[in-house]
Amino acid sequence: MFIIRVALPIPKRQLFDYLYNGKDLAAGVRVRVSFGPRKLIGVVWETSDKSEWDISKLKSIEEVLDDTPIFTPSLLKLCGWLAQYYKHPIGDVVQTAMPVALRKGESSLPKPIEYWTLSDVGKSADLSSLSRAPKQRSLMQLLNSQDIVKAKAKTEFGAAAIKSLVDKDLIALIQKAPSVESTWQQDLVIQDKPVANVEQAIAISCIEAKLDQYGCFLLDGITGSGKTEVYLQAIEQVLKQGEQVLILVPEIGLTPQTVHRFKYRFGIDVGILHSGLNNNERLQVWQQSATGQLGIIIGTRSAIFTPMLKPGLLIVDEEHDSSYKQQDGLRYHARDLAVMRAREDNIPLVLGSATPALETLNNALVGKYQHLKLNQRAGNASLATQHVFDIRQQPLQFGVAQGMLDRMKQHLQQGSQVMLFINRRGYAPALMCHQCGFVDHCKRCDKPFTVHKQLYKLQCHHCGSAKSIPKNCQQCQSNELTSMGVGTEQLEQGLASHFPEYSSIRIDSDSARGKNKLDNMLSSINNNEHQILIGTQILSKGHHFPNVTLVLILDVDGALFSADYRAAEHLAQLITQLAGRAGRAEKPGEMWLQTHDPGHPLLQDLINNGYAHFAQYALLERQHANLPPYTFQALFKAQALSARDAFDFLQQIAQLFSVFSNVDCVGPIPALMEKRQGQYRMQLLLQSPQRSSLQKAIGQKIKQIETLNLANKIRWSLDIDPQDFS
Ligand code: ADP
Ligand code: ZN
Ligand code: ZN
Repeated sequence: MFIIRVALPIPKRQLFDYLYNGKDLAAGVRVRVSFGPRKLIGVVWETSDKSEWDISKLKSIEEVLDDTPIFTPSLLKLCGWLAQYYKHPIGDVVQTAMPVALRKGESSLPKPIEYWTLSDVGKSADLSSLSRAPKQRSLMQLLNSQDIVKAKAKTEFGAAAIKSLVDKDLIALIQKAPSVESTWQQDLVIQDKPVANVEQAIAISCIEAKLDQYGCFLLDGITGSGKTEVYLQAIEQVLKQGEQVLILVPEIGLTPQTVHRFKYRFGIDVGILHSGLNNNERLQVWQQSATGQLGIIIGTRSAIFTPMLKPGLLIVDEEHDSSYKQQDGLRYHARDLAVMRAREDNIPLVLGSATPALETLNNALVGKYQHLKLNQRAGNASLATQHVFDIRQQPLQFGVAQGMLDRMKQHLQQGSQVMLFINRRGYAPALMCHQCGFVDHCKRCDKPFTVHKQLYKLQCHHCGSAKSIPKNCQQCQSNELTSMGVGTEQLEQGLASHFPEYSSIRIDSDSARGKNKLDNMLSSINNNEHQILIGTQILSKGHHFPNVTLVLILDVDGALFSADYRAAEHLAQLITQLAGRAGRAEKPGEMWLQTHDPGHPLLQDLINNGYAHFAQYALLERQHANLPPYTFQALFKAQALSARDAFDFLQQIAQLFSVFSNVDCVGPIPALMEKRQGQYRMQLLLQSPQRSSLQKAIGQKIKQIETLNLANKIRWSLDIDPQDFS
């Protein structure tokens, strides 16, 4: 009898012991067990000959689901690290790392494929009887020499021909296991590879020099400097060695255009993993990567868990992007996990960005990562010039100053496209009564409703609740309700009537909702069907719009005064990325930023000296203020119907940590967003100058926290290296 310790999808920080009669079970194999009244699928973590529980009371494993482990040893180690570092239940870590289909118990082996073959009757049939049915006849002739995949036969010969042959009993379906042979190495071609410029060539050779060992590179290149080209040429070497490459991209950066670039250069299939896939599609890419059938796999955050038969290189593009940090459940950072994985697999990792995260930059400055710089735009493009535009005492039309409208006109008349960035979707961020000043707000979140004119709705952007736009004020019954401020919808309407001769397009999460919608919009922009592009964050991410020469940023003043210490970094990244959308081809570009605070040091530094300079000073500021990356943080969040409960719970946690001299507690204090969906939200921040001290302290206390009375009554979570304080 073996004692098998299983990671089960149960929110407890422990493994569960079961008995097993057969031979030893390998770690990483799925098993079905009973847990109370339920049946659960778990993953074997380890085998032992003793248990801390009474062995006579242990249950037996009911079913073993895999012959071989579904996790590679290195992925199992990573799961162990995740559980330990993020103080997260191991069972939930393992679940997060598996495709949903495998969590539900589907076979991890590729599904058999159905083929048409000749039946016994068909083998001896006289084909002349089919002389009037040419399709049936040629299908029969083909089947004489080989079996044909069911789907392929249908597209080539049509359902009707197939049905007739089945009715005549001439053909039959058989199943075959799919081939797991990888052919991409033979298919590999290199198409349209430009000559790398000097900076690119240096970066490529630095990476190539370390292809067979761990090494982390920060590829720090201004927008349009040809970072992707560096990836492509490094990937080429890896593929030629017969090894696989995993590329992570931000959620909205995974467009067909991106994928096409990789597919086209090498002429091979690229595995794609994003949230739009169904469970079977996801499983298929997972399998093909695990068996080595795919040379290149591109995916968003959770693709970091994709197994590879022959890992050769990891790339995290736009490494500063906030979508790499998971904001619920297992709150891991895919960039940090990529570092651990590259170490475990002994392969290089390239982190690319024009606006590196301060954490990453610091790691490069202290020599943990090798710093590769690209300071020139590739090809003939030059970097956009950057300017602030003082809007104090200026009249604004739909949020835009006259001076900016004039500038837009100049660019439009030259046949260029202009892009406007505004951080708010909807028509206006608030609806106010002109008589009494009442602002209609969501009672569950204590925040104003956003006006959506097209939907004729007031919508809360924090909890999603909505109602139709009222005709009268709730407080004084006046019908003089006016919208305050400007959102994308209003800007679009205003510009459409101001520039009737040009076509405008709005890209935000309202208009880009739905399959392929965003991709179609991006293509129509690159086909020059629209001249005025209006959008939110979505527009800032990595897209290549060669004909955009003017970028106009309307309203980011709010971020200059945010209580979140990361706001400055994020604003600088946003502005730099937006400016990077202009002037990406032959025509020079410019960026203008409307502001009420044109002398603000952040804006002045960024615009005059660039992101790298800003980042250096931001790091100094963090150092003086004892903030990350010079200190390490963990955030306990609690939410409850009563603010008291949330406060008391966190207060008890603070008490537990008061014994550690090198861990500071800040709070409990209300979250930046104090109330959401009717729940009060509080936070307790732990901070320490040493990562290890913080880790040790939480490790010692976490079980005790789990057993606090309030722990089971309210919703709470622990976020290690928190990014989001809202
Ligand atoms: P980034 O990823 O840094 O934003 P890209 O790799 O997308 O930059 O390159 C920007 C543009 O410059 C692309 O159109 C790309 O094809 C082109 N490009 C990149 N490297 C070269 C090169 N060495 N020679 C000519 N054009 C290049
Ligand atoms: Zn009123
Ligand atoms: Zn709300």
